[in-house]
Amino acid sequence: MIETDVVVVGAGAAGLAAAGRLQAAGVPFVLLEAKYRVGGRAFTDSATLGVPFDRGCHWLHSGSLNPFAAIADRLGFHYQRHPARKRRLFLAGHEADDATRDAAGAAIANAFDVTIAAGEAGRDVAMSEVIEVPPRWKRLVDHWTGLMSSLPPEEISTLDFARYRDTTENWPVDEGFGALVVAAGAGVPVSLGVRVRSIDWSGAGVVVATDAGDIRARRAIVTVSTTVLARGGIRFTPALPDDLAEAIEACTLGHAEKIVFRFDRPVEGFAPTSYAEAYEPDEPGRAPINFVVNPFGRPLAVGHVGGRFSAELSRAGEAAMIDLGRAALADIFGSGIARRIVAATVTTWSEDPDIGGAYSSARPGKAAARQLLTLPVGDRLHLAGEASAGPFYSTAHGAHLSGLAAAEWAIGRVGESPAGR
Ligand SMILES: Cc1cc2nc3c(=O)[nH]c(=O)nc-3n(C[C@H](O)[C@H](O)[C@H](O)COP(=O)(O)OP(=O)(O)OC[C@H]3O[C@@H](n4cnc5c(N)ncnc54)[C@H](O)[C@@H]3O)c2cc1C
Repeated sequence: MIETDVVVVGAGAAGLAAAGRLQAAGVPFVLLEAKYRVGGRAFTDSATLGVPFDRGCHWLHSGSLNPFAAIADRLGFHYQRHPARKRRLFLAGHEADDATRDAAGAAIANAFDVTIAAGEAGRDVAMSEVIEVPPRWKRLVDHWTGLMSSLPPEEISTLDFARYRDTTENWPVDEGFGALVVAAGAGVPVSLGVRVRSIDWSGAGVVVATDAGDIRARRAIVTVSTTVLARGGIRFTPALPDDLAEAIEACTLGHAEKIVFRFDRPVEGFAPTSYAEAYEPDEPGRAPINFVVNPFGRPLAVGHVGGRFSAELSRAGEAAMIDLGRAALADIFGSGIARRIVAATVTTWSEDPDIGGAYSSARPGKAAARQLLTLPVGDRLHLAGEASAGPFYSTAHGAHLSGLAAAEWAIGRVGESPAGR
């Protein structure tokens, strides 16, 4: 049996950060990843469409507070600091005039402002209980809560939402945020294709059982998603404490996916990294979708769907997702765009058994749950990952910071046997 000081489970942004910190501190560790690639939800795909795009995280949210900005500077990655171009809104195939676009924007902004005000007043209720949205914009607001929180307003806690720290600086990464996360973790040894099945923390330390054998360690840092944990993807012996298990369940992932098209050349009339949104107010069966058009001058349209629409589309499958994307592209660019599409692809985060969704959001009445996800368990286990990231939850930089925090916990106890349970 392999013996080490710390086992880190999962090599996404959190696991890579935790392992990198342990490595720098000279603490023996083993980093285990079920997939045959590192990065998890940070994944820049350069192969499928022949030009890079991010399947998962793409923007450095809260840019001026985001540790990945300094990492990008150090590693020679580029990101766009200036504010995003004004989003163009297309309704039923026609570009909205300024007044209509402003009305839609106000409905969305108002929903978020009211939610934050309720949360700041200490109310932990469903967002849907506090917002009032003009019927015309209701599905558009649902779409935006889907993009922000990956859930519909009925499932979002006002208090959790208000606790999210957002400077409103969203900086896209030219070479890809996924590539940046992976580059930041380069040099960290990782065992790929090793799935952790169970963790026994009943004894003096932990015994981590994998398909490739067991590993004995003093402590384990577990960075798999809350949905993977809630589904029992790793069996714990003894079971995790009830309050922690409930907290994990309360902060599982919602849904957000991308529908991505490659064109023969960049689309005319749209500057590099433009934003366009297609919404059919009178067609309830048609999901709203946002596109990043010509990202960094590349011949792509990267469509985003979120929340209930994303969940429905995932269930409907790839063909339905691409059909929706094509219809929306025709609304924005005209029907001739179909001839310019040379390839298309979709993401499948919700269907991915190693991930199970997009990002975490505390459910109504459960905002306090997040705090439990940041605490060590029995001096042997520490969760990390975006759900455990305090005010930066749901983000890649939050995952990174939570991984560093969990590593500090282990470093502070290096060489010490875990205290009795
Ligand atoms: C569509 C989409 C868009 C996003 N956009 C942004 C954005 O613009 N900006 C931003 O900051 N964030 C964004 N995010 C969120 C961000 O990608 C995540 O918050 C972050 O990458 C999560 O990192 P993590 O380390 O917590 O978890 P993960 O990336 O999920 O890493 C966990 C790892 O554990 C592995 N694993 C699972 N089970 C096991 C097992 N049993 N044994 C071993 N390994 C296992 C998984 O394969 C995975 O690699 C987006 C996410 C999605 C899905």
